[in-house]
Amino acid sequence: MSLVAVGSVAYDGVETPHGKVERMLGGACTYIALSASYFTHVKIVAVVGEDFAKEDRNLLDSRNIDTSGMEQLAGKTFFWSGVYSADMNDRTTLRTDLNVFAEFDPKLPEHYKSQPYVLLGNIQPALQHSVKRQMNGTRLIGGDTMNYWINDFRQELEETIRHWDFLLINDSEARLLSGESHLGRAAEKIMAMGPRTLIIKRGEYGALLFHARGHFAVPGYLLDQLQDPTGAGDCFAGGFMGYLAEEGVDPATGPIDAKILGRAVVYGSVMGSFCCERFGVDRFRTLTRSEIDKRFEEFRNLTSF
Ligand code: AMP
Repeated sequence: MSLVAVGSVAYDGVETPHGKVERMLGGACTYIALSASYFTHVKIVAVVGEDFAKEDRNLLDSRNIDTSGMEQLAGKTFFWSGVYSADMNDRTTLRTDLNVFAEFDPKLPEHYKSQPYVLLGNIQPALQHSVKRQMNGTRLIGGDTMNYWINDFRQELEETIRHWDFLLINDSEARLLSGESHLGRAAEKIMAMGPRTLIIKRGEYGALLFHARGHFAVPGYLLDQLQDPTGAGDCFAGGFMGYLAEEGVDPATGPIDAKILGRAVVYGSVMGSFCCERFGVDRFRTLTRSEIDKRFEEFRNLTSF
């Protein structure tokens, strides 16, 4: 049983107060897949150009990620670059060169279509929906979106998320999508749009989980060394969904246990925190499951009283 992850595979240029890297492996799908690979088997759907390096494919291979749904087209891989503010809470995009990503039209290999878990990274809602339509036998499906799609593609987005089990967004996006400033009321409205589970990410302040039987909060982890926050949200999503897949949850047999959902949110926070410790995907070159579980226990100590 695998998790199918969809989204960008990119080269990123990133500058933070701790340094600058001109070009390194990035992309939402890359972060999701690396993060989730500690919990379950992952298959990715993406597009790269002719410049996609062997060593980057090797990293995905080393985590046993199925890349047969990663199309390679003539042209260059998507390139994004950004610079972070001094406190790293704000980011300015410097360049977005879509390159082959402009032609992304997800086509799922046959052996992907019957997989039970699907995580849709932040891409155009119509493309997210086309992936959903190609799948059969999905148990749990959800994903991410952003203000651009909420503002300019609202109808398409609403039609897409109507069929999702969960949605992960940040607090400003939750307010924008719902038109409510109070996060509890925002959650109610968004859940009425389709997803019965909602995760509102709050950057360094942690995350809120809303589901039919209540809500749950997890704090942010105070990192000793925060080098580069790029991809933290995607790693959160990968940890969240990866853990639900590892647990084999199946909402068709009844609501997902609130304790399992809570643990999934903690694993999401754990994976987001590891991602920020090094530039780009570097932390995933050495990270082990025992380090992940150790930090999970730290969260338990941090929040139990
Ligand atoms: P996050 O920090 O979670 O927002 O994710 C950062 C990743 O998103 C980077 O690795 C970028 O390559 C990727 N990214 C940036 N802009 C876009 C875009 N317009 N569409 C898809 N992926 C993007």
